[in-house]
Amino acid sequence: MLVTKRMALSGLDIYKLLPKTNCRECGFPTCLAFALSLAKKVVSLEKCPYVSEKAKEALEAQAQPPIRLVLVGDDKNRIEVGNETVMFRHEEKFHHPTAIGFIIEDSLTNEEIKQRLDKITRLQFERVGQLLKTDLIAIKQTRDAKRWLEAVNLISGLSGFGIVLISEDSSAQLAALESLAKKRPLIYAATDKNILEFSRLAKEHNAPLAIRFKSMDDLSELTKKAKEAGACDIVIDLNTERHNQEVLWELTQVRRQALKKANRSLGYPVITVMNRLNSYEEVIKAGDYIAKYSGIVLLNGFEEWAVLALLTLRQNIYTDPQRPLQIESKLYPVGNTTEASPVLVTTNFSLTYYTVLGEVEASKIASNILSVNTEGMSVLTAWAAEKFTPDKIAESLKKSGVEEKVKHRNLIIPGYVAVMSGDLEEKSGWKIIVGPKEAAGIPSFLKNLG
Ligand code: SF4
Repeated sequence: MLVTKRMALSGLDIYKLLPKTNCRECGFPTCLAFALSLAKKVVSLEKCPYVSEKAKEALEAQAQPPIRLVLVGDDKNRIEVGNETVMFRHEEKFHHPTAIGFIIEDSLTNEEIKQRLDKITRLQFERVGQLLKTDLIAIKQTRDAKRWLEAVNLISGLSGFGIVLISEDSSAQLAALESLAKKRPLIYAATDKNILEFSRLAKEHNAPLAIRFKSMDDLSELTKKAKEAGACDIVIDLNTERHNQEVLWELTQVRRQALKKANRSLGYPVITVMNRLNSYEEVIKAGDYIAKYSGIVLLNGFEEWAVLALLTLRQNIYTDPQRPLQIESKLYPVGNTTEASPVLVTTNFSLTYYTVLGEVEASKIASNILSVNTEGMSVLTAWAAEKFTPDKIAESLKKSGVEEKVKHRNLIIPGYVAVMSGDLEEKSGWKIIVGPKEAAGIPSFLKNLG
């Protein structure tokens, strides 16, 4: 379902746009009373027959999200960017993670394209219970239109990625849009030279359009022109061939103008395209742009270490800082457990649980991990906040059913909370064994458990 955040309009804002004649035809004694009801959404604007077209447009425009939600891709692989509402994630979570994609040039042979696609498709990682993967393939024209179209169709046919069409040739773009029909590719990129032509293509094919500009003033003009020509889903293309400081300044300005100054002509997500850089420079720059505030990042390199770093960064930025990632609190058997398998206790903070899980798996000793509900806090934080207490652990042990699964009564606790051993032993009736402080110590600890 398409979810957009809408700016709340005050009754006074709406009142300013009404005729102010107090004619009562809407059923309200005054225009102000009608405006107040409109703000509460208990009446519709149509009740007033005298609202001008201009006022209607303004009211509708004000009700739009400050940064437009732009969709790329089809229903099977729908990528949503934009519709962010805050500058900083401590104010509210960021909603639509940066889409990460790779540029493939049509100068490669079909076989090379297939190999590259295959490698990119395999760039998937599981981290704290979530599958991290990339989103887009951008096909860049470097040869004639025929070869580019061949590459576009090859990639589109072989992969489910969202597609970015990189070509300045409007007839080639038209052919690609017709061929991809419902795949909703991103057209890249309109400039001051072809803005009307590309905007019409975007309108006719209901496709999003990236716009490249020379200066911030040009950008406002270009987005206005594109909108007038019928392009609705616009993505702003920032030139990344400059010092990083300048790019970051512009990225911040676009976001600030849209959110704080209600500048509609800049209220769109941003795309940043990496130029040929070495892998280290590319990953550093891309990381900066993911952090502030790129909606789409296109890369040239696709080394596993670099992509893993960027996907991890994106995951961290787009999780809700006020709601730690949590797993269900219960007993997790790892491997083929028996009545003699060890029992370890930890918290339900995803990062903690998955770190412990990884080390237990690495030990190759089938074990049980009891995850206690600490509201997503890690061990020491939960202990300090009294969420990981002897009472809670004893209660979790009972509820988990572990007493029916193992014959022994030995519970391994994290080394950092060794201080609770005596109390926990008393409350649970289990013998407490103090485990290592760091999860990395778990394999050798389990092997020497005897
Ligand atoms: Fe005001 Fe329109 Fe209502 Fe008349 S119908 S009172 S102009 S809001």
